[in-house]
Amino acid sequence: MIMLKTAEEIDLMAQASKIVAAAHQVLQREVRPGVTTLYLDELAETFIRDHGGIPAFKGYRNFPHTLCASVNHEVVHGIPSHRELKEGDIIGLDLGAIVQGFYGDGAVTVPVGPISDQVEILLKVTEEAMYKGIDQARVGHRLSDIGHTIQRHVEAHGFSVVRDFVGHGIGRQLHEDPQVPNYGRPGQGSRLQFGMVLAIEPMVNVGRPQVKVLEDQWTAVTQDGSLSAHFEHTIAIQPEGPPKILTTVKDH
Ligand code: MG
Repeated sequence: MIMLKTAEEIDLMAQASKIVAAAHQVLQREVRPGVTTLYLDELAETFIRDHGGIPAFKGYRNFPHTLCASVNHEVVHGIPSHRELKEGDIIGLDLGAIVQGFYGDGAVTVPVGPISDQVEILLKVTEEAMYKGIDQARVGHRLSDIGHTIQRHVEAHGFSVVRDFVGHGIGRQLHEDPQVPNYGRPGQGSRLQFGMVLAIEPMVNVGRPQVKVLEDQWTAVTQDGSLSAHFEHTIAIQPEGPPKILTTVKDH
């Protein structure tokens, strides 16, 4: 069942989401060769707690950390470790925060020093696809209009969209109904309504869309070893026009 949110609830989600966006800014300044993903995780946890939030992922289904740090062919859910980042890597930084019981969730993928032109294009196309999907999240549209638009943009650039993981409703739970796939035919699924809050999060592979989960039970990687990028915003559907992006450091 899709839980519509009141203005007060959306305000709390905006507060949680603002902490997420600000944490991303802090982490992005620290991403460089030689830094460990565990260091980034510790920074993220400290930042979230110092700003009045609770890390949303830590302990979620026994996930051990605040940050999902997914490097290169890791798609999502990478576990922070003593691994050091190298020049030319890309790293997905996915994190969530809770304020007064309400969640915000967001992800960015960033380069570690200079990266190749093709990898630059992967990051650009994935982020663009996310924004194009977000723009579809309007009253009167249907749920699959989001994923259809994302898939079309991604495939137009020769990349592929991951099917095994999808976006989601968000609120008092990190993952609520509805699921928000990043693919599909347009005009299907629920009608979008004012009060729906969604996490829209394309995961895009250079190669084929298939993924597998490693023995650590978390880290999802591309089956073909190709690079993968991930961007995510938490958005609130408005009475008309495009949605409000909650995962931003700007005032709402
Ligand atoms: Mg999410």
